[in-house]
Amino acid sequence: MDMDKLVSLCKRRGFLFQSSEIYGGLNGFWDYGPLGVELKRNIKDAWWRDMVTGHDELSTPAGAPAPYEMTGLDCTIIMHPQVWKVSGHFDLFHDFMVDCRESKKRYRYDQVRGRWVTYREQTIFVATNVEVDKEQEDVQTRALKFFKLRNKDAEEITWTSEFVSLTTLGNDFTKVLAPDAKELGTLLEPREFNLMFKTIVGALGTAEDAAFLRPETAQGIFVNFKNVCDSTRVRVPFGIAQVGKSFRNEITPKNFTFRSREFEQMEIEFFCHPSTSREWYQYWRDRRMKWYTDMGLSTERLQLREHHVEELSHYSCGTADIEYAFPFLPAGEYGELEGIAHRGDFDLRSHMEGKLDPNSKPDLKVELGPDGKPKHRGSGKDLTYRDDLTNERFTPHVIEPSAGADRATLAFLCEAYHEDQAPDENGVMQTRVVMKLHPRIAPIKAAVFPLVKKDGMPEKAQEIYRALKKRYNVFYDEKGAVGRRYRRQDEAGTPFCITVDGQSLIDNTVTIRDRDTLEQKRISADAVLAEIETRIG
Ligand code: ATP
Repeated sequence: MDMDKLVSLCKRRGFLFQSSEIYGGLNGFWDYGPLGVELKRNIKDAWWRDMVTGHDELSTPAGAPAPYEMTGLDCTIIMHPQVWKVSGHFDLFHDFMVDCRESKKRYRYDQVRGRWVTYREQTIFVATNVEVDKEQEDVQTRALKFFKLRNKDAEEITWTSEFVSLTTLGNDFTKVLAPDAKELGTLLEPREFNLMFKTIVGALGTAEDAAFLRPETAQGIFVNFKNVCDSTRVRVPFGIAQVGKSFRNEITPKNFTFRSREFEQMEIEFFCHPSTSREWYQYWRDRRMKWYTDMGLSTERLQLREHHVEELSHYSCGTADIEYAFPFLPAGEYGELEGIAHRGDFDLRSHMEGKLDPNSKPDLKVELGPDGKPKHRGSGKDLTYRDDLTNERFTPHVIEPSAGADRATLAFLCEAYHEDQAPDENGVMQTRVVMKLHPRIAPIKAAVFPLVKKDGMPEKAQEIYRALKKRYNVFYDEKGAVGRRYRRQDEAGTPFCITVDGQSLIDNTVTIRDRDTLEQKRISADAVLAEIETRIG
């Protein structure tokens, strides 16, 4: 599929617009248009319904070790700055960026993977034999320290064919070497910056008033763990879900909405007993993968990729990414839609007691003790859980399925785009652009047309439109040739078109046209709502 065609359809039909477009746009920010807002809302609603409100807590779902409960939260975007200190984002959510002088390629240091990656998502590993001088906290040595943290004694790494290595001389990043040792170029000085957007809370605007826009929704769930346990009767195992905006000052936002600076996440933190956490991890990997295929992504374009040991965060005993072969990526490459991570007790424990370097400076708003050091590195609150049946007290383990609503929307748009041949209003075969969106997420569920604008057909069509409107987002259109009206709905992804014609006025029947098969069936006007309900499923 040609990505340019999709991008132009999205603009032309009102799925997506560049933010502040009349001022030239703002890189990494996107607005959802009239069709896009419905599509994305339907995706978020489907996720919420399937994961939370529609979840049957009384029975054991296929593949799950036991029944479980689900509940939701909606937390603020700006939180106490200490949250980000404890979560590690303040100290570790940095990007190191290096530019290659000759090739003008830009590389960033991927914290999670512990290696340099290009912005084309190419995998670049870094190798160094440089000793890090503890006193030198300049950008270069900190970048090297990160590398060392991840790759303890690595002096050299065994490269597989697609890897490119970065070697260093002294403390300089000097050369990028291809696997065949072909020199790619000299690197300029690495630069470091935190990916969190900073803001000021309060009128004074002093350094102490600094706060951050959340880079993930997950932390709001962890810091409310005790509130949820105390205010509901949920028992472990249970999950807390949240959908909301997150912000990351990505160095190079690109690939349409794939890497944006403002985006929406759909996250679940699932709390379970440590002894069953691996089984729950397996369950959530498979459950989430199935969700995407149920919603229409093809298995050929999806993959579940288990991370290699060296890619895992130090606290994680398993992470898998659900990836999609986006058409803007080179053949054989996939982009992450969702990560499912086994996070152990890292987050709850950190928010209890902190896990940071004891020498780290109290650069955020924290309560200081008499010795001038932070009073608690965590919150100091007890976030353990007591099982009231067994009386056992433990810190639950967490499985985190973390999805991006914008990336899911983009994947559904890519999957939906089709061109086929269909007859126009004169019976001549023409190329038809059709968005084959799953009916559950289609922005408009049905369009209602009078065949012509006379003989009482508009009145009858409007009556049907009003009846359907009570339940679904439907669209009424009486302008232009009916064939052209069908085409417009095909491009919008509307799965059903209802047409009132001459016969409708005689026997109260209408035609219902299927977007994908083009099949037209005549049914009673009174049965339209039930028919649509059945077809949407
Ligand atoms: P990537 O490696 O692509 O930057 P990530 O591993 O940093 O992603 P997570 O921190 O695991 O992403 O975030 C969970 C989900 O949030 C991702 O799977 C993705 O769907 C979404 N997401 C993360 N960053 C962005 C972004 N900049 N733009 C759009 N969606 C994003």
